[in-house]
Amino acid sequence: MSDSALREQIATLGRSLYDRGLTAGSSGNISVRCGDGWLMTPTNACLGRLDPARISRLDRDGNHLDGDAPTKEQFLHMAMYAERPDDGAIVHLHSTHSVAVSCLPEIDPHDCLPPLTAYYVMRVGRLPLVPYHMPGDRKLGDAISGLAGRHSAVLLANHGPVVSGKGLEAAVYAIEEREETARLYLLLRNLNPRTLTDEQVAALEQRFGR
Ligand SMILES: [Zn+2]
Repeated sequence: MSDSALREQIATLGRSLYDRGLTAGSSGNISVRCGDGWLMTPTNACLGRLDPARISRLDRDGNHLDGDAPTKEQFLHMAMYAERPDDGAIVHLHSTHSVAVSCLPEIDPHDCLPPLTAYYVMRVGRLPLVPYHMPGDRKLGDAISGLAGRHSAVLLANHGPVVSGKGLEAAVYAIEEREETARLYLLLRNLNPRTLTDEQVAALEQRFGR
């Protein structure tokens, strides 16, 4: 896909996420691999009103080349890409239900959400929790690096999800599936829901290669 087509795709999908309430204000950010570097949403930009021409362009080392300055959470994206060289896009949101789950003390830090649906297992798999760090703390990048090689999605404690995919559409679908599963989890909390069994999860992982 060309540079201009990727810029349009970032703006279109950013608006879609914003219009459906999956991100608010100037929170959330998107990046895609482009040529030798990256395109990334700018700092303090609303995903609902992105100007494709002002999206930040970075070189392969993450240096800002042109466009507006990139998101302050750039280092989250770089930490994830470093461990996932085959992935081409990353989406990070402060989506309400996921953030709510990330604040619950009882969640399993190795796998924050139960396997409620097949599509969650297929698109997200296991979701580890990254311990809380202050915004901008580079230790957060180190913590993501330790998990991203094995997981295409992580949940930052008291903050929100970071999801990577082969392309932007795949990453957006995966983060939407993760948000819907967080919503289901909260709806079903204390209702003792029936989850997929270990055998059903193993069969999905075998069939769909997670
Ligand atoms: Zn964030």
